Amino acid sequence: MFGEFDLEMPKGLSEALDFLSDGKGGAVLSGGTNLMIDLRSRKERPDRVISLEGLDELRGISTNGDRITLGSRTTISDMLRSDKVADFGPSLIDAAGRFAGQMVRNAGTVGGNVGCSSPAADLVPPLMSLDAEVALISASGSRTVALRDYYQGYKQDVRKADELIASVSWARPPANSVNSFYKLARRIGDAITVTGIAVCLSVEDGKCQAARIALGAVAPTVIRAAKAEAMLQGQSLTDELIAAAAKQAREECSPIDDVRATAEYRRHTVEMLTRRLVTQAWDKLT
Ligand SMILES: Cc1cc2nc3c(=O)[nH]c(=O)nc-3n(C[C@H](O)[C@H](O)[C@H](O)COP(=O)(O)OP(=O)(O)OC[C@H]3O[C@@H](n4cnc5c(N)ncnc54)[C@H](O)[C@@H]3O)c2cc1C
Repeated sequence: MFGEFDLEMPKGLSEALDFLSDGKGGAVLSGGTNLMIDLRSRKERPDRVISLEGLDELRGISTNGDRITLGSRTTISDMLRSDKVADFGPSLIDAAGRFAGQMVRNAGTVGGNVGCSSPAADLVPPLMSLDAEVALISASGSRTVALRDYYQGYKQDVRKADELIASVSWARPPANSVNSFYKLARRIGDAITVTGIAVCLSVEDGKCQAARIALGAVAPTVIRAAKAEAMLQGQSLTDELIAAAAKQAREECSPIDDVRATAEYRRHTVEMLTRRLVTQAWDKLT
């Protein structure tokens, strides 16, 4: 079963931050739907676990003008019930609706999904397509990092040992935009993503004003297909241009073979799904 560790149950955010900054280290526990499994399999062997369970101040969805903020303890179920999330980030509702089963949705959090730094974390492509930012907090201050700069490599990120993810936030996409996510997996129910893609496309005066394409499970981290995006920006999109950008997105990923799919299949599905989601968005907007 589990190895031995001390369990800290801070009563508030400042106590949690004090634990994180006392130099003794420790793993942060939020909903536990990743961490408990890693503790049980002994993949993670911390001497101390710091639970965020009592930290209600980190849970909640708020808007301020054209910006929305999700506290890191906001659960997948909270998101699915939120009209604000549906309004500010429809791709997140697509992702949350294909996320695990009800029990995991009730426990699993946004902060845990971003914080596990998995390339297959389903909320990350939608958040990256929305140009989200991550707010990090520690006993000595706070800082904000663009989500696209947050990951450094496979399961590596810029968060320091004394920092917590406090929230993620992003600006509402313009009215003339489409934001969607597609999860390709071996089953519709509980299944790890084979290829995940989120697109945010906006149109002005018959031209693509902005295109953001985020790809999950096809590289060591979730990535933006920046060169494919640049091919679409400022252009009136034709089938040929969309097909060329989709081919470019394929070039930008670096998938691996694993038990779920071959690298070649993942490359193929990146091209196919990029073409499909960009075409659907363009057709809807023009
Ligand atoms: C049956 C099952 C199905 C699943 N299906 C999916 C799925 O469809 N899609 C998907 O993406 N994932 C899925 N997962 C994985 C998991 O549920 C999600 O990644 C979830 O969002 C993790 O959130 P959590 O609060 O449970 O994180 P935890 O397990 O508590 O933590 C995960 C990691 O994030 C860190 N962390 C958590 N909160 C913070 C914080 N505030 N600041 C800093 N670090 C933090 C922890 O230290 C840990 O390293 C599934 C898991 C299970 C068991």
